Amino acid sequence: MRRFSADYIFTLEGEPIQNGIVVTDDLGKILAVTNEKALSDPNIERFNGVIVPGFVNAHCHLELSHLHQKIEKGTGLIPFIKNVIGKRQEEEEKVINAMKKADEQMFQNGIVAVGDIANQSISASVKEKSNIKYHTFIEMLGFDPAKAEATIAQALKLQTHFQNSSSITPHAPYSLSKELLKNLTKFCKKVNNPISIHNQENEEENFLYRYKDGPFMEFFKEMNINVDGFKAQSKNSLQTLIPFLPDNQPILLVHNTYTSLKDIYFTKRFNLKINWCFCPNANLYIENKLPTFDFFKHNNYPITIGTDSLASNDQLCLLSEMKVLQKNIDYLSFTQLLQWATINGAKFLGFDNDLGTIATGKTPGLNLISHLKNGKLSDKSTVKKLI
Ligand SMILES: [Zn+2]
Repeated sequence: MRRFSADYIFTLEGEPIQNGIVVTDDLGKILAVTNEKALSDPNIERFNGVIVPGFVNAHCHLELSHLHQKIEKGTGLIPFIKNVIGKRQEEEEKVINAMKKADEQMFQNGIVAVGDIANQSISASVKEKSNIKYHTFIEMLGFDPAKAEATIAQALKLQTHFQNSSSITPHAPYSLSKELLKNLTKFCKKVNNPISIHNQENEEENFLYRYKDGPFMEFFKEMNINVDGFKAQSKNSLQTLIPFLPDNQPILLVHNTYTSLKDIYFTKRFNLKINWCFCPNANLYIENKLPTFDFFKHNNYPITIGTDSLASNDQLCLLSEMKVLQKNIDYLSFTQLLQWATINGAKFLGFDNDLGTIATGKTPGLNLISHLKNGKLSDKSTVKKLI
């Protein structure tokens, strides 16, 4: 049994507990949370700072870990994609070793669960042996309507490699057909299949949907991708796709860098289980631009946080993402930010029975955050995994 205490315990089940004590078994299962001031007990591990639940990284691509520091910053999304396509081929051993290191880095940074995108089966063995809980999103790409069924069949075949929690999902608005979405929504009627889709990561995606023109059309030509079946929609990508998404599955919209206020209002007209995911460091890395966070102030949907991959981030660390969010969103309280980093992601991934808050019976992991300033994160804030 272990007893942890700090200046405050943020259980996210109620108000923060000053000088609270969290009692766990040796494996980290919460046995009790109390506010007894038993500070003379020599068995209490006492820390300066605040104790919070383990973090949930809602968006990552473990299989791109070997591209760490291989892609230049600030190129914009299309050159970034070209770089990933051009550089991702590597010896299997190197890819696996990079994934193991990335997994260990996330663990040390207090991450207890990850929503991870996969295009291949190579990450399966790393995830099986990991101390982190993974949900794998098997990603589908396919602009050709005629291949929609085959694309889903292929994804389901790839899914059999993953023993842990998994689902099949479309990659992004600029790489799917309406038929693929319609078939996926039909498939979703029968099974539990959370969706995670990249959304409005660059302005060119909106331009493509509005006018069927711009840099994506050049990209398709270069890549020999046939887009004859695609028609200009005179509206942004999100507004075009929303009506085709399944209403019975949790949906994660990732990035949202170029999501307009009108897009956000549009989502409210549909009864979908939408979750937003911010990956601010990746946005700065690729596009040098952050979402307009003010637009999300009055939205009804939960917000989660992701790191994206090491191809577009210096590190896989939720605290680093939280610092950018804290600095750039003036309406954001520390408690709200913690919810984004823990329970919201846990709920989206279906892991909230065990993770996301400090409650008796759960095994959420405990992180110590030190060096808060006026109750908020500062540049100097650090995270230490306690259990
Ligand atoms: Zn991504």
